[in-house]
Amino acid sequence: MNTPAVFTLENLRFWKDSAPLQLAVLGDPVAHSASPPMHMAALGACGLSHTYGRIHIRPEELPEAISLLTESAFIGVNLTIPHKTAILPLLNTVDPHAKVMGAVNTVRFKEGRLTGYNTDGKGLTRAIEEDFGVKLGALRVLILGAGGGAGRAVALQCALEGCPKITLVNRTREKAEALAHEIASLAGLPQPPPIITALGTDSVTLSAHMEATDIILQCSSLGMKEGDPSPLPLRFLRSEHLVYDTIYSRPTQLLADAHAAGARASNGLSMLLHQGALAFEIWFQREAPVDAMRDALRLFRAAASR
Ligand code: NAP
Repeated sequence: MNTPAVFTLENLRFWKDSAPLQLAVLGDPVAHSASPPMHMAALGACGLSHTYGRIHIRPEELPEAISLLTESAFIGVNLTIPHKTAILPLLNTVDPHAKVMGAVNTVRFKEGRLTGYNTDGKGLTRAIEEDFGVKLGALRVLILGAGGGAGRAVALQCALEGCPKITLVNRTREKAEALAHEIASLAGLPQPPPIITALGTDSVTLSAHMEATDIILQCSSLGMKEGDPSPLPLRFLRSEHLVYDTIYSRPTQLLADAHAAGARASNGLSMLLHQGALAFEIWFQREAPVDAMRDALRLFRAAASR
């Protein structure tokens, strides 16, 4: 039997006790997802015979899909665009960290009950420590794209980690301002609270904020397409800056500029890796084989860029 690369809701309706998968990523779109090779490598390294696949689920299909997967004795799922907040009312329990993030990217199915977690933020924390050898919470951060889903998760994680200064930059300034208000009103943040500033990408004060920035966290989608310019002019970059671009699908102009400026720079593959490793640990209650997962991701990216 040929296994489809991407399953759909129609497939799920016939699975019942004979599901070909026990783990999956649900999204719309989802065909591009690097999670299956990464998790299949982890399962193989641990001698587990489960299968992880991709399921294309449209927004209106999510409740039925989750109900069918519960009946199919699934172990867990990852959620990607556009399901990370829509999943919340379908869960029995939401982990406290995911509640603060307001989004769930990992679900564990156990005895018919569903618990939601968010490993994106903590994945970033691990990635920064691995790539740059520093604690995220010690850094003054500037977040580009602080109006989208990734920017929001990254900004909340920075606040929870205790970053002393958080500069939120977004093309649509109002969205950065709304996020700044949301962070400022969070209960239980490490003390003293961060100094938060919200700016538009065209702000004349951006240059001054760059001087008081240790790490630039690029979370906008500008850079995903061939020929996209950098969201930050080259003249703002210094060799002392750390630059982390969450885009991992292709080399971006920002990363090229960071290297030209002598700055240390890294792409979002490590964030993808560590959010996946944390999800694996939630499902199997054991340490994830991170090296095997990293190797699989690198192979997948290399094959995709050929
Ligand atoms: P999203 O919700 O659609 O947000 C897109 C963001 O990019 C918004 O802030 C938007 O600004 C900004 N933007 C779009 N086009 C722009 C342009 N031409 N100039 C300046 N800003 C622009 O998308 P998302 O889910 O947050 O994803 C954003 C990026 O994060 C993607 O590139 C994705 O690869 C990356 N990501 C990486 C990981 C990882 O594990 N490494 C995980 C999740 C996401 P406006 O508000 O003004 O529209």
